[in-house]
Amino acid sequence: MSLADLRTHYTAAINPEEIGDEKVTIAGWVHEVRDLGGICFVVVRDRTGRGQVTLVKKKIDKELFDTARKLVRESVVSVTGTAKPEGKAPNGYEIIPDEIKLLNESQSPLPMDTTGKVEAELDTRLDSRFIDLRREQTTAVFNIRHEVLRAVRDFLTDSGFLETSSPKVVATATEGGTSLFPITYFDREAFLNQSPQLFKQILMSGGLDRVFEIGPIFRAEEHDTRRHLNEATSIDIEASFCDHFDVMVILEDMVAYVYEQVIENASASLEALGVELQVPKTPFMRLTYDDAIEVVNSKGGDMLAWGDDLGTAAEHTIGEHVFKETGESHYFIIDWPTEIKPFYAMPYEDNPLLSKGFDMMHRTMELSSGAQRIHIPELLVSRIESQGLDPEGFEFYLKAFRYGMPPHAGWGIGCERLVMTMLGVDNIRDVVLFPRDRRRLSP
Ligand code: ATP
Ligand code: MG
Repeated sequence: MSLADLRTHYTAAINPEEIGDEKVTIAGWVHEVRDLGGICFVVVRDRTGRGQVTLVKKKIDKELFDTARKLVRESVVSVTGTAKPEGKAPNGYEIIPDEIKLLNESQSPLPMDTTGKVEAELDTRLDSRFIDLRREQTTAVFNIRHEVLRAVRDFLTDSGFLETSSPKVVATATEGGTSLFPITYFDREAFLNQSPQLFKQILMSGGLDRVFEIGPIFRAEEHDTRRHLNEATSIDIEASFCDHFDVMVILEDMVAYVYEQVIENASASLEALGVELQVPKTPFMRLTYDDAIEVVNSKGGDMLAWGDDLGTAAEHTIGEHVFKETGESHYFIIDWPTEIKPFYAMPYEDNPLLSKGFDMMHRTMELSSGAQRIHIPELLVSRIESQGLDPEGFEFYLKAFRYGMPPHAGWGIGCERLVMTMLGVDNIRDVVLFPRDRRRLSP
């Protein structure tokens, strides 16, 4: 059963005028069987769409007609025949079959509806993801996610970045704290890495100059929210001889490029989801942390003091404010208090209470955090200590700063948050094939 026997065309690739009398073979799932007595329609679905197979009882072999009538929905078939134009059929053609191969029969009833007529709960869909993916809207999300990652790779490669990979099993917490999953590594304790941060920086000392990584990050966050996963996909960059403003430009340009590419290459998927995308306008608005606090406090409600982190409610207030001012959803918050940014964020030389850390926000949530990093080893040690961490645990990292570390900057942006804000999806689990959250460890 080679591909040559089972499929010559995807359903969306058939144009009867071009093909003429040449035989075509499509392969996929039985989406629908409509048996009207004298005529039977079988709709076959593949990743690209649908193709209609039409059998007229009087004109076709009896055995073939009976095979078609008895097909169970969601069974896998391969159909060979001649394509004819048919305006009322999906993709504008119908196939008059010579042969229908039943490759795998589906059991019935199905664990969930695939026609989109009954809206299943997210949990039901995730429990039977293989069936959920047979829905057009679900496939559309993952087509777009593919397009997002492809665009990211192209953009960063064209901007001189090397794709790298860092270990996910590590001995030290990136930022300390409790949000780590401990694991057993032979007879030692180890952790699943919460971020490639420390490794990206070591690569700057190695002279790789500009690197990116697309990989999993693990966060043992206890909370069960619509925008947190315990295993997420992070798009990370690090660039030498750059400050925070340089990498902010790379970030906003990348986001705009990703939107453009999705519009250009995934229009059918956007349409299936009913999403009309606008490319965000660059440069994104830059708000200082002080401005952000003022926006929140001027609205009344819970007052923020200088040095407080911005909670979800504050982020929404600021996002709405920016949207009203600019009509745009994306913006930066810069000049954060050093104390609430990670130890590796560079303080401003003339005002060390402020750091060169930034967040890139969407109206609805944080998308990315970044900074110019500290490249001076003594300053780094003192920042590690003042965050209550032990520099000894960071020796493998600190070593890379003592023998020629260039100034550098970088950021990490959550792939899922980028996709969900783009599509207006409100639960992050919808944009991950097999999400890991507080309750879900399978499938
Ligand atoms: P938040 O405050 O929203 O929990 P964070 O500041 O802890 O995020 P960072 O450590 O700054 O997250 O990570 C950089 C980016 O990685 C975030 O802006 C986000 O897009 C993504 N990210 C981080 N943690 C998660 C998570 N648990 N689930 C999904 N995406 C995440
Ligand atoms: Mg952050």
